[in-house]
Amino acid sequence: MDALSSPVRKIIHVDMDAFYASVEQRDNPELRGKPLAVGGAAARGVVAAASYEARKFGIRSAMPSVTAARKCPDLIFVAPRFDVYRAVSQQIREIFAQYTPVIEPLSLDEAYLDVTENLKDMPIATEIALEIRSKIKAETGLNASAGISYNKFLAKMASDLNKPNGQAVITPKNGPAFVEQLAVKTFHGVGPATAEKMHRLGIETGSDLKAKSMQFLVEHFGKSGPYFHGIARGVDDRPVRPDRVRKSVGAEDTFAVDIGDLPRAIDELRPLAEKVWSHCEAKGIRGKTVTVKVKYCDFTQVTRSKTVALAHAGVEDILEVANGLLAGVHPFKRPVRLLGLTLSSLTGEEDADDVEQQPRLGLGF
Ligand SMILES: [Mg+2]
Repeated sequence: MDALSSPVRKIIHVDMDAFYASVEQRDNPELRGKPLAVGGAAARGVVAAASYEARKFGIRSAMPSVTAARKCPDLIFVAPRFDVYRAVSQQIREIFAQYTPVIEPLSLDEAYLDVTENLKDMPIATEIALEIRSKIKAETGLNASAGISYNKFLAKMASDLNKPNGQAVITPKNGPAFVEQLAVKTFHGVGPATAEKMHRLGIETGSDLKAKSMQFLVEHFGKSGPYFHGIARGVDDRPVRPDRVRKSVGAEDTFAVDIGDLPRAIDELRPLAEKVWSHCEAKGIRGKTVTVKVKYCDFTQVTRSKTVALAHAGVEDILEVANGLLAGVHPFKRPVRLLGLTLSSLTGEEDADDVEQQPRLGLGF
């Protein structure tokens, strides 16, 4: 990374320790201190997660349950409770959100946080990580580990260094040397098949990887070539991308008196669009899909949606689409008791910035 042209980022990778197994041990004291596998014990089951006690026997996630039971005859199998794991995951995300909106979950128990600029104005990322871990412990009773560094790759590597219940920092000064001595098979993004391929090409360590040219890496690893070229030098410019899946922003209003005519109904869309837009502004998000919901006095309802190619840039923009959608269901088959307006296909701040520099095409599809 060129420190002169771009500020050094502060990224934390938070990873819960033996997450599913730890939740089960938290909720059932009889399981504490015992080798435990979350997953099916049946013939074709696999281990979804193993407690640290089970790991001592060489039991790992994704291992067939039959193999796990052979390695540790006392192994206790517990059926997963994903609803509970999801609820804990939500608690953890709420803690993250106290520090930064730039959160990229990797799974229920792992996330990257960009805390370069953070909501608490805390200058030291290691202190943020300590606080987050102690809040997680206080609110969920569970241990988390953290890695702190100047990019995602190194933050992720760092979170493993002092696991469980620990954290580690890799500074810009130490990053390149740290990578050189690591075995490539431990790199995030190098799975077993890639590790085997690297082995055949004589690449065992970060140092070996660094010795290969970009051309060589692209030739052998295609699209991943530039990523490998970068991480071999401790460079990874991928941004932390906030979760953009399954989100929408919506508002609705039920009227004191049902509405029969289109102009009045259109007037009622404006405050809804303003509400939606102010939320988007506050969160730094944009959306491409507008949905209008019309609920009639007999409680039947219709919805109409339209997606544009580039994210909406303001209230008027959203209203133009929403008004058109509403006009499409007029004449109303009954008086309208409720109108709703939702924006979805949301994108984060970064994409929205890109969008504003381009002409709006406004193409429906
Ligand atoms: Mg974990």
